Amino acid sequence: MSRTVYVNGDYLPEAEARVSIFDRGFLMADGVYEVTSVLDGKLIDFKGHAKRLARSLAELEMTCPVSEAELLAMHRELVARNGIEHGMIYLQVTRGNPGDRSFLFPDPSLPGTVVAFTQNVPNLADAPAAKVGFKVISIPDLRWSRVDIKTVQLLYPSMGKMAAKKAGVDDSWFLDEAGAVTEGTSNNAYIVKGNRIITRQLGSDILHGITRAAVLRFAAEAQFEVEERPFTIAEAQGADEAFSTAASIFVMPVVELDGMAIGTGKPGPVAVRLREIYLDEMRKAAI
Ligand code: PLP
Repeated sequence: MSRTVYVNGDYLPEAEARVSIFDRGFLMADGVYEVTSVLDGKLIDFKGHAKRLARSLAELEMTCPVSEAELLAMHRELVARNGIEHGMIYLQVTRGNPGDRSFLFPDPSLPGTVVAFTQNVPNLADAPAAKVGFKVISIPDLRWSRVDIKTVQLLYPSMGKMAAKKAGVDDSWFLDEAGAVTEGTSNNAYIVKGNRIITRQLGSDILHGITRAAVLRFAAEAQFEVEERPFTIAEAQGADEAFSTAASIFVMPVVELDGMAIGTGKPGPVAVRLREIYLDEMRKAAI
């Protein structure tokens, strides 16, 4: 079924949506994005995503042609027009179309390009993968040094997903030069030891996950200890549990790392519980 998508203020059938070949998002990966989940026809943590979008734009000296209130209205309109019960909204803002290719940023008065579209995922909350958990391999983190900015420059994460696919697993976790895990291709990475949940501290070498922030808040409220520090693959392989978080997978148990089972090799109780708490609480707060 053809979707209705959003392009610079217009709602169009997807086949009629057009962006210039000179758009800097296309030529330079000069754009940022957000993915917001939809459950029961409502937006999960929209505020968090809008806040991070504003931060990504500010870090790149870009202005957003659309206000937060307009973005919210547009997200809701896309949900309604496409009849989305469960799924995702992808939003992208680029520096726009200066009419030619140049390395220099165009005049800041040039309006950026804003596009958004829905992805219908009926079983988003009860994904079969969450029942068996992800198998993961580790690969070097060869991304640029500002991955805290959510840019559309996703070639290396895409290569990481392909490496995982070729290895017959679900995802790759990136390793820094010291051999510590930074994060997954499109998610934040955690291990569990007893009552402690360990995940890398915020910095410019990981994306500041919106799901991460909520999960760590819920974990602390549920009396888990949260340790924000680097961990290695060896430490992860010896942990009781591991998991990943992202808006599209919520809390996803990780059951195998580089061919070695973690804990029992099945989704662990902490990951399963945090997933339940996250889904319950976020559904209550959805708008
Ligand atoms: N880390 C990376 C590299 C990501 O691409 C993503 C999501 O796309 C995340 C972490 C998780 O972020 P969020 O929880 O905001 O979806």
